[in-house]
Amino acid sequence: MERLQKVLAEAGVASRRKSEELIASGRVEVNGQTVTALGVKVDPAKDVIKVDGKPISGQSKVYVLLHKPKGVITSVSDPGGRKVVTDFLHGIKERVFPVGRLDYDTEGLLILTNDGELANLLTHPKYHVPRTYHATIEGVPHGTVLDKLRSGVKLEDGMTAPAEVEYVDVDPENKRTVLSITIREGRNRQVRRMLEAVHFPVVRLKRVQYGPIELSGLARGKFRHLRADEVKLLR
Ligand code: URA
Repeated sequence: MERLQKVLAEAGVASRRKSEELIASGRVEVNGQTVTALGVKVDPAKDVIKVDGKPISGQSKVYVLLHKPKGVITSVSDPGGRKVVTDFLHGIKERVFPVGRLDYDTEGLLILTNDGELANLLTHPKYHVPRTYHATIEGVPHGTVLDKLRSGVKLEDGMTAPAEVEYVDVDPENKRTVLSITIREGRNRQVRRMLEAVHFPVVRLKRVQYGPIELSGLARGKFRHLRADEVKLLR
C-alpha cells in the first residue's frame, strides 16, 4: 500500500505537492469514491484511481480465466509453501488477485484481475452474480431433494436464497449423480454445506460458470486472457 499522492506523482500526474492539492480539491477518485483526505493509502495494482474522472496511466488492466485444479489454494502466496492459483499464470507481469475464492478441494473457473472495481462488482452480495457448479454426489437424489435445494435450505448462517438446480448426469448403476447448481450468493463452502444439509455430501465440486463467463474448453491448470467482449459483459 502506498500513499495516494505518491502513486499519483509516480504515475506522472503531477508533482507530489501538486497531487496533494488535486486530492484536497476533490478531483481524485479511488474505486469510484472521491477522496479528499491526505494520507489515504492505496494499492496501485488493485485500486482504480481517477483524476477528473480519467484513470491514471500505467494501470493496464488484466483479466485472466484460470481452470483451477483441486488441491490448490485461492491465494497469491502461502507461507506453508503449498500451491497457489498464481503459480499457474505464466508471463503475466501485473499483480493480479483472485475474484472471490474456491475451496482447496474445488476445481474450475476462477477469474483473476488487477481491476479492483470489477472484482468488487463481481463479488459484492448486492449484485447477486450467478455462479454455476457441477456437484458430483453419491447416490441418486429424488426430485423433492432438488426442490428443497431450489427453494432454500437452512444452514448455520441462515436460509439459502433460491437456487437453480438440475440433473446433469444420473448413473444409478454406479450410484453417482452430477447436479448443476446455480447460486447468487458466495457464502463460505456454500454448495458443500447445502448438499450436506440434504444428506448428499459432495464427492467432487467444479465451478463451470461465473456470471456470463464459461469455463468450457479450458484444460485443468490452464489459463487464458478474457476477451474484450467478455470483460464488457462482466460490467
Ligand atoms: N461452494 C463451495 O462449497 N465451495 C466452493 O469452492 C465454492 C462454492
